[in-house]
Amino acid sequence: MKLHEYQSKQLFSRYGIPIPKGRVASTAKEAKQIAEELGGKVVIKSQVLVGGRGKAGGIRLAKNPVEAEEIATQILSMEIKGLPVRKVLVDEAANIITEIYLGITNDRAARKPVIMASAAGGVDIEEVAQVSPEKIVKIHIDPLLGLRDYQARDVAASIDLPREHWKAFISITHGLWKVYTECDATLAEINPLVITAENQLIALDGKMIIDDNALFRHPELSDMRDLDAEAPSEIEARKYGLSFIKLDGDIGCMVNGAGLAMTTMDIIKLFGGNPANFLDIGGGANADKVAAAFRIILTDPNVKAVLLNVFGGITRCDEVANGIVAAMQEVKPKVPMVVRLVGTNAEEGREILANAKMITAQTLVDAAQKAVAASKGEIQ
Ligand code: GDP
Ligand code: MN
Repeated sequence: MKLHEYQSKQLFSRYGIPIPKGRVASTAKEAKQIAEELGGKVVIKSQVLVGGRGKAGGIRLAKNPVEAEEIATQILSMEIKGLPVRKVLVDEAANIITEIYLGITNDRAARKPVIMASAAGGVDIEEVAQVSPEKIVKIHIDPLLGLRDYQARDVAASIDLPREHWKAFISITHGLWKVYTECDATLAEINPLVITAENQLIALDGKMIIDDNALFRHPELSDMRDLDAEAPSEIEARKYGLSFIKLDGDIGCMVNGAGLAMTTMDIIKLFGGNPANFLDIGGGANADKVAAAFRIILTDPNVKAVLLNVFGGITRCDEVANGIVAAMQEVKPKVPMVVRLVGTNAEEGREILANAKMITAQTLVDAAQKAVAASKGEIQ
């Protein structure tokens, strides 16, 4: 679960990380009021759950409350990467001298959390990682020992942080580690962490992702979930216990099992196609779940073809087929659908689908080739 910037920064603040004074507003009038309370220059920041808001024009400075109201009006009517802006954060503006990147995430390959920092903060850290990876320092943290003081100092030294800021930096780093572990986060990131003209270190931006599997023990964090700000397809998927991730391609995938789903995506790419999503309906999926999955896939306007790949072990193929038929009656798909069913009750499943005008395939290769051809309009 992604947290908004203002939520992440509130958490940061509880862990002793300095943040600018400010509050969140859902109307331009409120934004004006907050700007009046803060006095002086403010920054109006769109609260949407995507990065790169700055580049998209969703972060702007305002000289006075009147300007704050104008800018908030504009930002509140924006859409950033398809997400409507419903709230803005009004913060005291900072006089930035240096922008630093500081983040903690899980390094799955190393099976350890990793702390990352860069003196080239502010901009897209993904871009820095691609163009000049040497500008990012990474230090792994032993989960049993936790973050050690010397490691925080190492980070400060590696990014050439001036000595006078080390004490504050080390305290912020410890705070970030603490908020990361105590909230069961998979990401805790400050970008930028700035040195101001007043020589203070402040977290200007904040991003946290909480591990969904740990939310049961953080009711106060689950309450922060902003349903308005999430993609409707992902909300729907969560409701039915489906693992769904939207992608940019045009072949909808419905698969049981995460490994098989990844294989399916790979093989689609191998034959020159592009998956529109990752979707694992899970083991033992019933007709309801399948229907929900189908609805989610087919409401994506990019989807030009659907590939269903089901290996019936615990999941029964006839159940899946019934789900598909039920969903088809509801959604009335206009795109070609390719299906590969093998395993328990596959015969029954195929029989049910035979009447449903689906393209059947014998093997995964056959299925992928047909799905790619269908997505290009070569077969129907
Ligand atoms: P992001 O683009 O979604 O990552 O949003 P950020 O909160 O990181 O803001 C993007 C950029 O806007 C920062 O890197 C800063 O350069 C700039 N910015 C944000 N807040 C302030 C501020 O208070 N004062 C000034 N001068 N610039 C700011
Ligand atoms: Mn940022």
